[in-house]
Amino acid sequence: MAKQRKIPRRMCLGCRENKNKRELLRVVRSAEGEVLLDPTGKKAGRGAYICWDEACLQKAIRGKSLEKNLRCAIPETLVQDLKETLCSNRE
Ligand SMILES: [Zn+2]
Repeated sequence: MAKQRKIPRRMCLGCRENKNKRELLRVVRSAEGEVLLDPTGKKAGRGAYICWDEACLQKAIRGKSLEKNLRCAIPETLVQDLKETLCSNRE
C-alpha cells in the first residue's frame, strides 16, 4: 500500500524532456528583471530549467529557448556562470 510520492517534474530547455526537478538546474528571472542562477531552486521569479549537462545548456542557448522562456536577454556572464557550475559538478 505504499503511496507514490508525487515528484515535481519540469522540462529541460535543451532536450525537452520532463525530469525530476532535482535533476535540473534552475535559472530564474527576478522581479527586478535580473537573470540569476538558482542552485537552491528557492528564489522567487520566473524559472527555467536545464539538465546538469553542458550539451543541454548549449542547445538551450543556441536555440534561444532560454531567452524565449524567460522573455529576456541572457547575459554572457550568466552563460559563463552556468558553464562553470556544470563543470564544477562533473564527477
Ligand atoms: Zn536536457
